Amino acid sequence: MAKPLPKVKIIPLGGLDEIGKNMTVVESRGELFIIDSGLIFPEDEMLGIDIVIPDISFLKKNKERIRGILLTHGHEDHIGALPYVLREVNVPVYGTRLTMGLVEYKLKEHGLKNVKLNVIATGESLMIGKSKVEFIAVNHSIPDASAIAIHTDAGIVFHSGDFKIDHTPIIGKKGVLLMMCESTNVAREGYSMSERTVGATFDDIFMSTKSRIIVATFASNVHRIQQIVNAASKFKRKVCVSGRSMVNVVRVAQELGYLKIPKNCLIDIKDVNKYPDNKIAIITTGSQGEAMSALSRLSSASHRQLELKPKDTVIISATPIPGNEKSVSRVVNALFKKGVNVIYDELADIHVSGHACKEELKFMHALIKPKFFMPVHGEFRHLKLHAQLASEMGMKDKNIFMGHNGAVLEFNRNGGRFLPNVQAGKILVDGLGVGDVGNIVLRDRKHLSEDGLIVIVMTMSKETGLIVSGPDIVSRGFVYVRESEKLMDEAKRNVKRVLDNCEKNNITDWTTIKTQVRESISSYLYEKTKRNPMILPIIMEI
Ligand SMILES: [Zn+2]
Ligand SMILES: [Zn+2]
Repeated sequence: MAKPLPKVKIIPLGGLDEIGKNMTVVESRGELFIIDSGLIFPEDEMLGIDIVIPDISFLKKNKERIRGILLTHGHEDHIGALPYVLREVNVPVYGTRLTMGLVEYKLKEHGLKNVKLNVIATGESLMIGKSKVEFIAVNHSIPDASAIAIHTDAGIVFHSGDFKIDHTPIIGKKGVLLMMCESTNVAREGYSMSERTVGATFDDIFMSTKSRIIVATFASNVHRIQQIVNAASKFKRKVCVSGRSMVNVVRVAQELGYLKIPKNCLIDIKDVNKYPDNKIAIITTGSQGEAMSALSRLSSASHRQLELKPKDTVIISATPIPGNEKSVSRVVNALFKKGVNVIYDELADIHVSGHACKEELKFMHALIKPKFFMPVHGEFRHLKLHAQLASEMGMKDKNIFMGHNGAVLEFNRNGGRFLPNVQAGKILVDGLGVGDVGNIVLRDRKHLSEDGLIVIVMTMSKETGLIVSGPDIVSRGFVYVRESEKLMDEAKRNVKRVLDNCEKNNITDWTTIKTQVRESISSYLYEKTKRNPMILPIIMEI
């Protein structure tokens, strides 16, 4: 009998059918390697939720077999879940220098010690467990981004990470069994613009502007920050950095040599007013309209150290991530109302995407020539379009695999197939609580946020079982009690009638009493207001 062909398993736990919480498990020779460990920001209906991370039940169950977490780059959708994952499965982490610099900072912030962090140079290969792993340099909107190749018995598994083709084409790989390639910009024709276009636009603006210049961008976009610093020092402006994440990234990137800032160029935020307006450039967070960011605070005059002047020029050097359009235009409008000159993406070339457009993706496929392909890092439409692109480029349809979170795909050199799914999904993080907010809590939050709350307090005598005071009614977010006295009085009478009725029929069970009060008040209020507040009857005993 012929020996069975060597196999490799691919298990995506996040990042498919969504852009965010990227996490893919590669299983080879019984050992597990985790590529990336990212978060995604909550959707509108996840009220009060801070962040969302992948469900890692599968990792917890297979703890002993995990050999490491391999990070492609330092963006939150690739490293943001790390502190939560490492708390459950403490395994070594591998990544390039800047990525690990950002990770180190993040873990410190979460009070996590005793994690083995390994800095890997791109172009280097190393043995992790029984497998050879390579980090390959790619271009992206954060320095030190990499693709990852894992050499398995079945062949090379290649993961593109996030990338675009800009000056430095990545090294080709021979004999790739499976390529997982990002799909973010697959719907955009042509090529992404070069970061150099942005530098030229900055030069033009800095040359022609007499006022202070304030530039908002992604904290992690170190290239962009460098371009702002370059333009500022060329036109003799001092640079000030505002916003917590911006200050952190600038510090880490400068320490590690990824950001070069001339001596005496950087000034403290409290010294900004010591210089003339045309000698100041401020780099800040808030390019996505985030409510608590420095730019939002500036636009609403609630920044503790800075105040906008009517002639200031604000450049928003980013495009809104899908879903953030409204909050960005809110900030842009608020800035214009303050008399500020705002330059945003519709007005000038002040941003380029960090993700490959269609022609660049084709280039990647032509370069890697994988036997099998699975699109990753995209919403369902992106994954579908990317699969079509591979097919148009001549790949056989049976060699293209549309995965989903929780899928288990097994490959040998002749083909691939789906095995039974593993558990996958999302875990909601709210404050210090990880996973304690579920559907029931969210449903209550939604109910409260839409219709408000009515509390009915009744005091009952322990001896007689009779109501001795109340009912009192408290409203929060339903109506303003003082302006709705009639409604509230009638509601109180309604409760009294229910209580009298209970007494008459010898109903003494509190649960029944509460239910009857709730039902009666609910239908009364609906009849009068066509609203459904949450009703909370409380019985106190004295
Ligand atoms: Zn990403
Ligand atoms: Zn990225």
